[in-house]
Amino acid sequence: MSDKSKGRLDRRDFMIASIATVGASAALAGTAGTANAQAQATPPANPASGTVYTGDVIEGKKVISRLDVNDLEPGKKHLLYFQGVEMPTGQHWYVSVTVAKGAKPGKRGILTSGVHGDEMSSVHTVQTVMNQLNPAEMSGTVMAVTDISRPALESMQRRWPNQGRGIDLIDMNREWPGNENGATAPNRHAGLLFNRLLRPNADFAIDFHTGTTGFEVTAFNLGGMDVPEVKAMMELYPVGQIFDNHVYPGVLHNAFMDVGIPSFTPEIGAARVLDREMSSLFVEGTMNVLRHHGIIAGPMGRTGKDVTVFVGNSAFPVLATAGGLVEHLVKLNDKVEAGQKVAIQRNSFGEVVAEYTSSVAGEVTGQRSDAMSEPGNPLVFILFNKSVHEGVESYPE
Ligand SMILES: [Zn+2]
Repeated sequence: MSDKSKGRLDRRDFMIASIATVGASAALAGTAGTANAQAQATPPANPASGTVYTGDVIEGKKVISRLDVNDLEPGKKHLLYFQGVEMPTGQHWYVSVTVAKGAKPGKRGILTSGVHGDEMSSVHTVQTVMNQLNPAEMSGTVMAVTDISRPALESMQRRWPNQGRGIDLIDMNREWPGNENGATAPNRHAGLLFNRLLRPNADFAIDFHTGTTGFEVTAFNLGGMDVPEVKAMMELYPVGQIFDNHVYPGVLHNAFMDVGIPSFTPEIGAARVLDREMSSLFVEGTMNVLRHHGIIAGPMGRTGKDVTVFVGNSAFPVLATAGGLVEHLVKLNDKVEAGQKVAIQRNSFGEVVAEYTSSVAGEVTGQRSDAMSEPGNPLVFILFNKSVHEGVESYPE
């Protein structure tokens, strides 16, 4: 079985090599010479340009395996399916692609959700923004992909159930930018999407998330405030917290940043539920971002200037040291002092087995919402300001 899959990958490598050879031959036939041959040896900066229709249609939507939004008719919305990674059945995971192509040219923005499969308010936020856009009045393009990790969304769970040696659950937000010939399906899926759909069509990108199952977060934006283009966008949201941190490699917004595309991650409350009130703040902020880039016209809505924004550069985790039922003594967005008691925990007899205090002064940005906990689980994340940065940051995504 592994021989077969290896064979497929090798063939794909072979096909790519063959295409490159054809290109080189054609160039040599046109104007023979070593200069041309050397030029062909360097891969083009953007190999994914040009839209490819597979010829398939699913529920009335044309299927693509590559997209260049410049090929689409201006002044219209386009609903497409992108052909993602191949499954064990030989079929593919398709993701939905909505493109609002403005009547006039301009910047190209990308909105994504569903990198984790249990984060519903982020899906709703992207859909609501797209439904408010009128391409006839736009200058530029907005593309949305709401269901990036399809198999994770099918079971409304965070991670992708990969068919390796039995089921492995893989966090797709550690896989970017992916590799089309990578060892696992989510890694190949990430590679296909990043190379052929996302990167070639983005002047800026916003990857929407929420907290995770069992762990709820506030409304906040995550990104590097030291990058002016990112700071300008994050400050256009009327939400109360900014987590100013570059976090770790492998997350989608950092894959964009690594290739020079300004990007950040909004976090919209609890997983699994649709929080329409909180979602509306991120819709308002995202519409502001589209105005900022000149894609839509009209006055700005509420921004960070209209609310009190707490900016922290680190998230302090309070970890459980015992098993038992957790009682929170603070709420999301509460200010806490160093030494303040934030939670207690009781065993099956109702005896208090642990008391938890914050080591830092800051604001509560995340809380365990599953009431039982075993040792090691994060109970609370406190957004605060650390003077010196060391190591890689973890955060309550
Ligand atoms: Zn997430």
